[in-house]
Amino acid sequence: MTTNARLDEAQRTAAADDPLIGTVLASRYRVEKRLGAGGMGTVYLAQHIKLQKPMAVKVLHKEMSTVTEVVARFEREAIAAARIDHPNVVAATDFGTLEDGCFFLVLEYIAGRSLRSALVPGAMSAHRALHIARQIADALSAAHDAGIVHRDLKPENVMLVDRRGRSDVVKVLDFGIAKVTWEDARGAPQLTRLGAVFGTPEYMAPEQAAGLSVDARADLYALGILLFEMLDGRAPFEGSDPVAVVQRQIRDAPPPLPPKTPPDVVALVTRLLAKKADERVQTAAEVVRRIDEILPRIDAPDADPVTSVGDATIAVDAPTSLALPVVSQTDLDRGLPTVLGARAPDAEPIDVALKRTVLVGTMRVPLWLTGLAAMGAVVAVLLGVVLLVSLLGDSAPRVR
Ligand code: ADP
Ligand code: MG
Repeated sequence: MTTNARLDEAQRTAAADDPLIGTVLASRYRVEKRLGAGGMGTVYLAQHIKLQKPMAVKVLHKEMSTVTEVVARFEREAIAAARIDHPNVVAATDFGTLEDGCFFLVLEYIAGRSLRSALVPGAMSAHRALHIARQIADALSAAHDAGIVHRDLKPENVMLVDRRGRSDVVKVLDFGIAKVTWEDARGAPQLTRLGAVFGTPEYMAPEQAAGLSVDARADLYALGILLFEMLDGRAPFEGSDPVAVVQRQIRDAPPPLPPKTPPDVVALVTRLLAKKADERVQTAAEVVRRIDEILPRIDAPDADPVTSVGDATIAVDAPTSLALPVVSQTDLDRGLPTVLGARAPDAEPIDVALKRTVLVGTMRVPLWLTGLAAMGAVVAVLLGVVLLVSLLGDSAPRVR
């Protein structure tokens, strides 16, 4: 690689002056901004210039585009995403090579936030955790039926969207190291070997951590870790040393879940986190069935951010048709402050803030109006105090 080429590459990895921004890829996708970057490549928001539709375009890192095995995996992600036709799996619509030889994959654009950002404030209610886990299990069930194992299920690869009045709609992303089992049957030993070095220690099933063969049940273990993390606020096996984390996956029992966790939910997590794949719940469809049995018995206390002030309930109510800002992994790495899974108020567009409403008794009034009223009340009280003091001052006997 020449010095210039290296400089070009360094620029591509710097979000600010990314040379792809503003260009048109494959004569149809106008690149607008970066959405995120991961081990395989960079994901951009792009407009399809003919359809006038936002899309996500994932461009494989240039140095990766020369590694045949990585390209094969990327191609596999395209095939996997195109084959799994499911509302909770991000859809792929196009795949190809750019003029400079980089591979790209075009995906349905998900205007949402990652499950990682929803976990930033800490544990969530059992109801919300199960609602999210059920959709992930349903997505996995469709993938597994198509012969595809995800193998890198983690909060960064699960997006949450608010759609048509429904909150926390799941979209599973990044089948980048997915293993298409029928391909294995045709023999792809190098790919399997390469796959063994991929994966994220905190979500890795013991058999994957031990480098043994992996099947769909490894995804169910990862789902168990996700469910644990949603209920507790922390994953069961964490640490700065990846080797130690991998060893704990193989050896250690998970710590207890918070005492308030319903026993049925504890039992489900325990079964998903069984060290031996044979002792786990065996299929994603079975996980869906179990959650469907448990969910109706659990209250939904904090489905939406709700705060109580005196006897008036304030329900923060953002319009559901509004596209939520995307919180990328890069944002999270920079420590973007998040509040209850949404962007912090300082990052909130003013039009969204103005549309927020508050329930006061039985009336729904704009949030800004209550702020104004509160300020008015404070000013009135202060004026009253000033008036009283001056009156008392006038009427009080003077001391010489
Ligand atoms: P990698 O294989 O590099 O981890 P991912 O597919 O996980 O790539 O994408 C990296 C990040 O880009 C994600 O965590 C997410 O923030 C963003 N992203 C990926 N796909 C989409 C999409 N279809 N819509 C919106 N954002 C996306
Ligand atoms: Mg990813």
